[in-house]
Amino acid sequence: MTATTHQLTGVLFGICTMTLFNLFTLTADALNHVLLFYGLIVFGSLLPDLDTPRSKLGGRFPFFFISFPLNWLFGHRTWSHSLMFVCLTFITGWMVGAFLDWEWYLCSALAIGVLSHVVGDYFFDGGVPLFYPFQKRKYRFIVTARTKRPHEWNISENIVAILLIAANSLLLLSQI
Ligand SMILES: [Zn+2]
Repeated sequence: MTATTHQLTGVLFGICTMTLFNLFTLTADALNHVLLFYGLIVFGSLLPDLDTPRSKLGGRFPFFFISFPLNWLFGHRTWSHSLMFVCLTFITGWMVGAFLDWEWYLCSALAIGVLSHVVGDYFFDGGVPLFYPFQKRKYRFIVTARTKRPHEWNISENIVAILLIAANSLLLLSQI
């Protein structure tokens, strides 16, 4: 899954959380919270691929100082694509949030983004090691899409991206 599709999945998870828990209406008052909420989610949706310098986040300064050693030590799609990492980011979010006096949804936003990444890769070739480090087996859906390579026309990834854009637009419109 490419970075753009991961970001779209993160936004979808954000809108679903917002709708399910009736968090905030899209007004100017709530703008700061909305921006922080989605900013954390989008960052979280890219965070697991910090384990490779070939990713959008991992290939950029200063993140490649982290992605190179991580990739060398653990390889791509290992612990950062597990449920353990989702829990770890959840705990970190709540620790930082307690310090900054955040609402629960801001504390959870980073983990929501990371979860969206793991769920997204579950539907793509390669799969995800959900129970890493206890079990190294990679899980994936029965039918998977193929990750788009640079400068390649890839139907399955494009279809997923278009479906995500459509779902996000419909859900956002229902909020107005
Ligand atoms: Zn990934």
